Amino acid sequence: MPGRLAGKNAIITGAAGGIGLETSILFAKEGANVLMADISAEAVQRAEAKVKQLVPNASRVESIVCDVSKEDQVEKMVSTLDPWGGLDIIFNNAGIMHSQDDDAVATPEAIWDLTHNINVKGVWFGCKHAVLSLRKHKKTKGSIINTASVVALVGSATPQLAYTASKGAVLAMTRELAMVHAREGFRFNSLCPAPLNTPLLQDWLGDDKPKRLRREIHFPSGRFGEAVEQAQAVVFLASDEASFVNGHDMVVDGGMTKAYVTPE
Ligand code: NAD
Repeated sequence: MPGRLAGKNAIITGAAGGIGLETSILFAKEGANVLMADISAEAVQRAEAKVKQLVPNASRVESIVCDVSKEDQVEKMVSTLDPWGGLDIIFNNAGIMHSQDDDAVATPEAIWDLTHNINVKGVWFGCKHAVLSLRKHKKTKGSIINTASVVALVGSATPQLAYTASKGAVLAMTRELAMVHAREGFRFNSLCPAPLNTPLLQDWLGDDKPKRLRREIHFPSGRFGEAVEQAQAVVFLASDEASFVNGHDMVVDGGMTKAYVTPE
């Protein structure tokens, strides 16, 4: 199938919903062979069926259950692509924001550890096994994209300390890997999404107008982002169009992190 990602083998983690699902759909539309990975078996199978339904002429779409915080599972996920010819792209996107995540005083240590095991160690394992696979298959180029967040760039007075620290780690780790592997042709870039119009956030905000306004007012565009707007940026970073984009913090936030006073 022709497209901007034609012939490329891609893994997307956290593929069952939100950004991961929208990216799976766009990758399939752009001709990639896609392995959708998620910790939830039922959800990722449903998501796989949705991609196949929306993109009936997709090259290859499969799914796998993988907890990214477990290295043996990440290794198995990446090796699934060996018979496909090896990985070309990995989008390390799985992440959690726990409801008990709070400030320095109130965040339980177990929540800190859980968040960092998934959001940081999970991304490290994804990067590590991507590099090993790219080398094994003698690839001269590869694209690794890791999901961070705007909270890695700007502070928030509604704290989720473990989450914020984990996303800062993703940015720093990605930048360093970009330098380490540049001469091998392996590019590493971060995606920094702003708060999105996903059910998670919207259900939480509900009809509470002041709570909603407290967040919406920071967007120059006057609205939250959509998951598909993140996915569009990921397609670019994954494609050869971004061949000279490396170590970049791709901020997709409608200008939020550049705002001082926003339009009324
Ligand atoms: P989401 O909750 O819809 O998707 C996350 C997916 O990751 C889920 O399908 C979940 O089952 C999966 N997952 C959780 N733990 C996992 C694990 N251990 N192994 C494998 N999969 C696991 O959320 P989303 O909004 O699409 O978030 C995707 C990424 O974007 C996350 O890293 C998140 O932190 C980041 N992000 C989201 C927003 C936002 O407003 N939605 C903003 C900034 C950053």
